[in-house]
Amino acid sequence: MSAPAVDAASLGSERRLLIDGELVEASGGGAFDNLNPATEEVLGVVADGTREDMERAVAAARRAFDTTSWSTDADFRRRCLLQLQAALEEEQELFRSELVAEVGCPMLTTWGPQLDIPLKDALTWPAEMIDQFVWRRSIGPRDAFGLGSFTEREVWKEPVGVVGVIVPWNFPLEITLNKLGPVLAMGNTCVVKPAPDTPFNATRLGRLIAERTDIPPGVVNIVASSDHLVGEVLSTSPSVDMVAFTGSTATGRRIMAAAAPTLKRVFLELGGKSVNLVLDDADVPAAAGGAVLASCFHAGQGCAIPTRLLVPRSRYEEAVEAAAAGIAGLAYGDPSDPSNFMGPVVSARQRERVLGYIATGRDEGARVVCGGGVPEHLPRGYFVEPTLFADVENSMTIAREEIFGPVLVVIGYEGDDEAVRIANDNDYGLSGMISSGDLDRARSVAARIRTGSLGINGGIWYGADAPFGGYKQSGIGRQCGIEGLEIFTETKTVGWPVAPGEN
Ligand code: NAD
Repeated sequence: MSAPAVDAASLGSERRLLIDGELVEASGGGAFDNLNPATEEVLGVVADGTREDMERAVAAARRAFDTTSWSTDADFRRRCLLQLQAALEEEQELFRSELVAEVGCPMLTTWGPQLDIPLKDALTWPAEMIDQFVWRRSIGPRDAFGLGSFTEREVWKEPVGVVGVIVPWNFPLEITLNKLGPVLAMGNTCVVKPAPDTPFNATRLGRLIAERTDIPPGVVNIVASSDHLVGEVLSTSPSVDMVAFTGSTATGRRIMAAAAPTLKRVFLELGGKSVNLVLDDADVPAAAGGAVLASCFHAGQGCAIPTRLLVPRSRYEEAVEAAAAGIAGLAYGDPSDPSNFMGPVVSARQRERVLGYIATGRDEGARVVCGGGVPEHLPRGYFVEPTLFADVENSMTIAREEIFGPVLVVIGYEGDDEAVRIANDNDYGLSGMISSGDLDRARSVAARIRTGSLGINGGIWYGADAPFGGYKQSGIGRQCGIEGLEIFTETKTVGWPVAPGEN
């Protein structure tokens, strides 16, 4: 399959912010560059939103929530979501080329979670669920004080209010849509802040919302900025009810602390250091080869990517050899070439971070089996060689911290109990994989691993209907699924007197 032809002039063609229904320049008139990480060239410029722009956007979202029928008119919301879906589909190929250019993600990732999967269900599933969602349920009458006076009670679900949506650069449109769909379906209004590295998908989305849908002014606002701290307005403003964030655990902590004085609800989808656990009855070489593909997917820049390969000690060298062979056969380079499995990492800063972790791995005594540097054949762009570390102890930094680069570490274990102990011996608990010849055995090991999702024998749990999020320091709350709708609601319990037996 080759990449569809797209008019290069239309890429990055929208630089403006969306505030209160208008596409506008930044209040200070500033703009910042958007770089292509595969070429280091400037793709275009984007309006550089200021604190003042963010405050205007928050005020617009507040007004739209408090003074319009958006939160109560479910039919209208469904219609608007489907209008936006149609508009996204019309520009699907432009989104594809733009994502490859600004994120540096390989074309093949756009056929999956980077674009085509969210375009299939991130808005449509929540739109369909508006009718099926249990907005009100009776919990029955009760004589609470035992005085013979019965109260009929109902539990109502209502929108939270204004939601600040803060998005990282690794799967920017996917993460935006998987928040926007539930946020809007549940009747909230929002302000979206894209990551400075990947603003074009967000400004394109803003233009489509403004020009192609009936979504009322202020319901969705999109404020790009080169300054991370402009996002802090969302965690501190008393006019914002909730922050929904995906990104690093360090930033998640900062957001939670900043949100504390106003007791905002927080949904946090944070980092991971997930395991790829190969049980001793699995096809070890096949599982190790698969682990390479999983860990190098999008150059390792995914929070759910399993980057700790756990193999039985008796099969250790066999697994390392199979993983090394997998890396040797991995095509990488220009992300717009569909034959490349892997592209660059997103920025020079990110590459430095990844190379820093590789240096630490060497210093702490792990063995670099392959990779470990910058590929000589790719002098331009922020490329990192796919890297395999053996002789890794779970106590080493490269086994404990999220690297967010194409780095796989191999750790040996004796028996299932030790495998489970190592899997759980980490601050994170986001995802993981298990391979086994026996599904029941794999399921019982899965039940012992403290993590928010697990794929067994290559099973893919992902989708708009599947809750996703972390145990432990991988986050709070779930995105997608019924849990991902409920998280954007408040709960109100209402009661009124009834005679015994009447309801
Ligand atoms: P980050 O967490 O710092 O940024 C994510 C988003 O939060 C961006 O939109 C950013 O502008 C915004 N932000 C940053 N500081 C903020 C603040 N104080 N208040 C409000 N918003 C704020 O991620 P990054 O700097 O782009 O990447 C750093 C590391 O984070 C990566 O190396 C990787 O390990 C990790 N990361 C994880 C995920 C994930 O999905 N878990 C995604 C991206 C990055």
